[in-house]
Amino acid sequence: MLIVQKFGGSSVANAERVNNVARIVTDAYRQGNEVVVVVSAQGDTTDDLIEKAAEINPNASKREMDMLLAAGEQISISLLAMAIEKLGCPVISLLGWQAGFETNSTYSSARIKRVNAERIRTELDRKKIVVVAGFQGLNKYDDVTTLGRGGSDTSAVAIAASMHADLCQIFTDVEGVYTADPRKIHNAQKLDEITYDEMLELATLGAQVLNNRSVEMAKKYGIELEVLSSMKQVPGTKVKEAIKMEKMLIKSVAKDTSVARVMIVGLPDSPGIAFKVFECVARAHINVDIILQSVGRDGTKDITFTVPAGDGEKAVDALKDLCDRVGAKSVAFDTDVAKISIVGAGMETHEGVASKMFEALSDNNINIQNISTSEIKVSVLIDKVDADRAVAAVHAKFFGD
Ligand code: ADP
Ligand code: ASP
Ligand code: MG
Repeated sequence: MLIVQKFGGSSVANAERVNNVARIVTDAYRQGNEVVVVVSAQGDTTDDLIEKAAEINPNASKREMDMLLAAGEQISISLLAMAIEKLGCPVISLLGWQAGFETNSTYSSARIKRVNAERIRTELDRKKIVVVAGFQGLNKYDDVTTLGRGGSDTSAVAIAASMHADLCQIFTDVEGVYTADPRKIHNAQKLDEITYDEMLELATLGAQVLNNRSVEMAKKYGIELEVLSSMKQVPGTKVKEAIKMEKMLIKSVAKDTSVARVMIVGLPDSPGIAFKVFECVARAHINVDIILQSVGRDGTKDITFTVPAGDGEKAVDALKDLCDRVGAKSVAFDTDVAKISIVGAGMETHEGVASKMFEALSDNNINIQNISTSEIKVSVLIDKVDADRAVAAVHAKFFGD
């Protein structure tokens, strides 16, 4: 079998853990498998590098940021390869470009265009374990790019897809995907299985256990993922197309605190205004999430929407001209909000799921500012200070105390 195993930052945080990963990898190899390993930077390395950069130039170009951040993964691939050598297995470490990762040129959130896996294939044919740096690639100018935070998950899935791997295992610091973040909610339950669509929503709505692009890619290429612990040998969670019927209406509760709310007050209540607003935002390449438009009164209306926290200022800048032109009273953003969501394919056919969530919040005196729903999720916007309480209340309502 060809197996891709990915280990996140906490799984390789120190020498003991690197040795532990080497054991898992060599076990799989000694059972007769071809093994490609993808690793992230150790522990908080990526955050530390970002801090180092900020001390020198808070407005550093994204190209130089990528050059810096890619160094984190270079450390872990070499250390892991050394640990595997020590256990007596043939091994080689490869940087993203050596492993054939071709990306576009959007520095700091590059998209993988192709993985030319010839080199990996050659090394596997030489009976080597191949250790690949996650999170990085090369663009058409031969410059190093990175895939965005949490991007090593996507690196692993991309290799699995391009090499038609039999198995893609994502090893992490929890035992799988849970009904809520198990580090925050102590009675969160591990799920045996979850569908791509549910996992994609969850990942997008703030559950960092898998990067959303990795799930998108796994779904597109039909790669079954297994999320499991690098510390404890127990079955994890399978992410796949269809799963056995469950009685669980919802699968998980997610929290996203990196949200900015943009508010435009006093827009003219006339046709075409919403179009113009969101055209400006789209032109600035900003993703809009929850939108709320007030009822028109005295010829004016307000529009509120959320964007990723880092894009708040950019959105306001993009809207200033339009607001001046149409005579809006003000446009501003804040980041004092959090998005709490429930996700589950079961809610599609069951009424009352949303109201149960709202009841949990109301019982705990938590005010809902905005609401957004789809077939498989309900999201609410609340005050950031209430976020943890809200997750606990909603989780207790659906999964018990
Ligand atoms: P890695 O370094 O292995 O990539 P991450 O820190 O990116 O790991 O993701 C794992 C973390 O995701 C867990 O430690 C956990 O706190 C968090 N998490 C959030 N929501 C969930 C969830 N529903 N199930 C499991 N883990 C979750
Ligand atoms: N090291 C990168 C990060 O911290 C990539 C990853 O962990 O997946 O975001
Ligand atoms: Mg991660």
